[in-house]
Amino acid sequence: MQIRAAVVEQADERFVFSDVELEEPGIGEVLVRVKACGICHTDVGARGGNYPIPFPAILGHEGAGIVEKVGAGVSKVAPGDPVVMTVGSCGKCRHCQTGFPTYCRQALFENMSGTRPNGKSSYSRNNKPISGHFFCQSSFATYSIATERSVVKVGQDVPLDVVAPLGCGIQTGAGAVINTLRAKPGMQVAVIGTGSVGLSAIMGAKLAGCSTIIAVDIQASRLELARELGATHTINSAEEKQVSARMLEISGGDLLSGGGLDGILDTTSIKAVLSDAITALHLRGTLLVGGAAKPGAKLEFETGDIHYGRTVAGVLEGDSIPDIFIPQLIEHYQAGEFPIDKLISYYDFQDINRAIDDALSGKAVKPVLRIG
Ligand SMILES: [Zn+2]
Ligand SMILES: [Zn+2]
Repeated sequence: MQIRAAVVEQADERFVFSDVELEEPGIGEVLVRVKACGICHTDVGARGGNYPIPFPAILGHEGAGIVEKVGAGVSKVAPGDPVVMTVGSCGKCRHCQTGFPTYCRQALFENMSGTRPNGKSSYSRNNKPISGHFFCQSSFATYSIATERSVVKVGQDVPLDVVAPLGCGIQTGAGAVINTLRAKPGMQVAVIGTGSVGLSAIMGAKLAGCSTIIAVDIQASRLELARELGATHTINSAEEKQVSARMLEISGGDLLSGGGLDGILDTTSIKAVLSDAITALHLRGTLLVGGAAKPGAKLEFETGDIHYGRTVAGVLEGDSIPDIFIPQLIEHYQAGEFPIDKLISYYDFQDINRAIDDALSGKAVKPVLRIG
């Protein structure tokens, strides 16, 4: 069938619209009519050539839509079902089978190779293949080939243009706090960098009942939004140079006084920020590195700072089991406890380049394209 897609012809070029030929869904695959798609920084990184997917390529990995057709062997969804598309996984490896599908041993191939598992793309133009299957969806297009494992069925009453970004950025932030830090009532946490991932983390910390939720950013307007979404304290790091000292003070003082945070999610991946942040952790506290860093970037800590049972860890997609976690977050949204809509700015599909510019400039927290 013929579809319309936003294509990146070469690294660092802007998206151009193109008619593309899409094959039928194969075994275990699902054809989805895309209604909406969020824009995530990984799309920008992939456009810049930072990931293995070859050009020309169709990106987009926060899609939601309606199942149009299913391939052989698919039982989880049927035509007409609304779905959120998310990161793909094999379902067979050790990590998939122990509840960590976002660390699937095949994840890089499944999500970044630009092809189906057989090494071929189902997308082509003038009989030449185009990379697709990005995060098992390539949803900057009117239709996507997803996999049975990469779609999460949602209720008929769920607004797809609100829940689309749950598939990546929002589950990443909320999951980092709820699943990885195992946030509990009374815990003290901080979130450094209040983009869509950081703000989702703040909403997650509020849901979990954390007693102290510190938001750190350089933009006053973002900090205001963070407070609205649940931050109990804010630190403007453009003005406050002693960020860790301020975090310790908020959390009850230094380690001698029994202060310190239980967990910090950093979304900036800035070396100096991370080196400073670890000193604000309580004993057994965890510093989560959640931002994508430039290739070659290094971290530096004093060895003594890792003592006291502290952990520095990475996190992908908020350690989510999407089939469980995404419906839970949708229930919280519907109950008014997880206001994702406050992060979203809408754009027509044809304005994808402007939407990305606005994400990069900080004008939009989470741009969502309305596609169908
Ligand atoms: Zn796997
Ligand atoms: Zn993403």
